[in-house]
Amino acid sequence: MYYDQETQVYLDGAWIKASEAQTGLYSQTLHYGNGVFEGIRAYQTDDGPQIFKAKEHYERFLYSAEVMHIPCPYSVDELIKLSYELLDKNGFEDAYIRPLLYQGEMMTLQPAEKSHLLLCAWEWGKYLGTKEVRLMTSSYQRPNPKSTHIQAKLVGHYTNSIMATTEAKANGYDEALLLDQYGYVAEGPGANFFYEKNGVLYTCPLGNILSGITRQTVFEMAEELEIVILEKHFTPSDVYKADGAFFTGTAAEIAPIKSLDGKEFNKPWKETLGYRLSELYQKLVRAHTTHFFEPAY
Ligand code: PMP
Repeated sequence: MYYDQETQVYLDGAWIKASEAQTGLYSQTLHYGNGVFEGIRAYQTDDGPQIFKAKEHYERFLYSAEVMHIPCPYSVDELIKLSYELLDKNGFEDAYIRPLLYQGEMMTLQPAEKSHLLLCAWEWGKYLGTKEVRLMTSSYQRPNPKSTHIQAKLVGHYTNSIMATTEAKANGYDEALLLDQYGYVAEGPGANFFYEKNGVLYTCPLGNILSGITRQTVFEMAEELEIVILEKHFTPSDVYKADGAFFTGTAAEIAPIKSLDGKEFNKPWKETLGYRLSELYQKLVRAHTTHFFEPAY
């Protein structure tokens, strides 16, 4: 479960028990999906819990709010401070933090003037576990970037993710891989995608995907490890011949992928570039700083 009788959340300026929190039934987010959120992780370190790339997450949160015309009267610094308070009040170290900015009462199709901020957290292990996942190319495409702000972490986008994951599981797979409107590989329902071929990593360029903070961290780590990453468009057929592949995401971290549409990749996970990156990622998230090139690391 996500909370118990003691769990504290931050709702509209007050610390209250999750079990006692209430919300209205006429929220535009509930009816039409116009809300924005983040998925952030805190890791236990020698200096207590550290929120990994908190600034980047809250900058994306405020960007999402702005493009969806949802007022957010908090700054990045205030949101980071509140997030540490949230961890402290609940005694969490390894935790998943979920900020949600949701709309007030509004049944017409324009943004409500009033929004609500919820910050909650729960202790959480890996999203996909360490299991090597078997992917299915989804029959659902990612939303067309001309129909939405694809770089915003918008509540409504996740109906697409839920349909894709449900379809994959119903077909006996673990997870989905979604294409863009041109048939190129875009991303997973909640993670970005990379594959390895002949010692080089490939991922699609920005444009049809969420600009993942973990994806960016992979670019930083690859530079340090002298691994080449090429951003280009590719199809499922290109992936079938891959040596290895992985998902990246705050929840998924760097998650091994075994196969796409039943075609297994050439190398065992532990011999892939993804594995080397995942080992470094585990060190980085538990380091004293969340940025690779800062001297403290
Ligand atoms: N794509 C989608 C659709 C996601 O939901 C996520 C998770 N936020 C990602 C990619 C990965 O983003 P990040 O690395 O910032 O968690």
